[in-house]
Amino acid sequence: MPRWCGKLGAAKAKGCDEQMASRIIPVDPFDLVVFGGTGDLARRKIIPALFRRWCAGQMRDGTRIIGAARSERDSEEYRALIGDALAEFAGPAARDADAVTGFLAILDYVTIDATGTLGWSELRDLLNPQRVRAFYFSVGPELFGPLAERLHKHGMADGESRIVVEKPFGNDQSSAEALNRTLTTHFQEHQIYRIDHYLGKETVQNLMAIRFANMLFEPLWNSQYVDHIQITVAETVGVAGRGAYYDHAGAMRDMVQNHLMQLLCLIAMEPPAKFDPDAVRDEKLKVIRALDPVARDDIVRGQYLGDSANAGYREDVGNPDSTTESFAALRVQISNWRWAGTPIYLRTGKRLRARASEIAVVFKETPHSIFGAEAGRHRNILTIRLQPNEGIDLDMTIKEPGPGGMRLVDVPLDMTFAQALGPEAQDVPDAYERLIMDVVRGNQTLFMRCDEVEAAWAWIDPAIRLCEDEALPVLPYDPGSSGPEDALALMHRDGRRWREIKP
Ligand code: NAP
Repeated sequence: MPRWCGKLGAAKAKGCDEQMASRIIPVDPFDLVVFGGTGDLARRKIIPALFRRWCAGQMRDGTRIIGAARSERDSEEYRALIGDALAEFAGPAARDADAVTGFLAILDYVTIDATGTLGWSELRDLLNPQRVRAFYFSVGPELFGPLAERLHKHGMADGESRIVVEKPFGNDQSSAEALNRTLTTHFQEHQIYRIDHYLGKETVQNLMAIRFANMLFEPLWNSQYVDHIQITVAETVGVAGRGAYYDHAGAMRDMVQNHLMQLLCLIAMEPPAKFDPDAVRDEKLKVIRALDPVARDDIVRGQYLGDSANAGYREDVGNPDSTTESFAALRVQISNWRWAGTPIYLRTGKRLRARASEIAVVFKETPHSIFGAEAGRHRNILTIRLQPNEGIDLDMTIKEPGPGGMRLVDVPLDMTFAQALGPEAQDVPDAYERLIMDVVRGNQTLFMRCDEVEAAWAWIDPAIRLCEDEALPVLPYDPGSSGPEDALALMHRDGRRWREIKP
């Protein structure tokens, strides 16, 4: 039974899956203000995520969601705007007219100017200072500071207030530090939630479960047994529609500094003593601080070409001379006892062969083959698939059945979550649902701490400068490919190869 089918409490569970419903812990009524509540991110992701949590029965009666943006409209007009957005972006749940009507009733709208005085008193008067008040900054980064300042000035930064800050969090170390200084002038660190939606993905959280809830892997999780690790985040889309932002950021700032870095930290960190926000983030920070500077030869940058169906990168961003990368591959080294000598290869890009994100932990070959040279050399590979088909594969070597001697073959032990755990595994909350409810619950484990963000910039800044100052070439690649040829060479020269990007 789908999880949108019944809201516990006020709307009552209309036959909602009992098991799923029993695991949902409703949170006390809260006020959530979405600054930029009319924007693309709010309409596509944030409000649909809230809608699905409401349908799941996680919000108690009295909870309110307030859209706040510059344009003038009343709450009724806002509800109509969001009704359309739900129909377009909230999936099958939005076909339940009663659920949509019920959810829209908890919405309000305030016209506000983040850089002026308009709307601030109205907003303050609307909110209940006795309850959790969360302020989601779904606006351009230039407005993060002005919003924090005005919330503080108008008495909305105290008690149970918290702010959620979208990416990009700065565009280099000094701008990230400046932003942290501004935010921490008005809010305390425990009130600031820097969101990286990758951390809300079910498989990313599963990474920690796989590593720290199983005895099997941890003894092998080091340079003695692991040959190398590959992290790939491949997209099929281009940058059309986001060109102005993207051409200033590029793949290094837009993807490597945050999403890939977070995956790298989770895969490489030491076991935290407990699963608590600071214990986890302390360990992630140590990984970032142990990263070696990236050498010139260890970076490959690329830019997608156009084809008969789609424009190329330069056309997409409207800049015929652009030297910004839409693809980046890096060879990274962590200098600590666990990982010295085990390179980690990162790769991300737009308009690639498939939309696929995965981490592959490639173990070393056995030291000696008792089956002779003809049996070949084999290795185990643990693949953690983030998307699509979230799940885990462990490549094992076995004897090929039948006659013909000891012929060895690699086969995956495949645990696709949807198959292993049943339909419920397909019906898990998306990253934004999980993260927004964590904000309300006051759990910062899956959010980046200020020192973590600054350390990530401190590591990538020199690599970006290297690209820009030494005019590291941006190599063209065909749409639908795996990126520039040189990215393959980055691994070939180490006697390794990338795993195929498969849908
Ligand atoms: P957007 O579509 O341009 O929306 C911007 C929103 O900000 C609108 O609601 C706009 O209100 C409001 N706004 C602009 N100036 C304002 C002011 N002075 N006072 C109050 N409200 C103001 O942007 P977006 O794509 O939703 O992105 C929002 C943020 O999320 C950005 O930081 C972006 O980098 C980040 N982000 C976006 C995505 C995505 O997929 N879109 C993904 C990751 C991160 P009006 O419409 O009333 O002017």
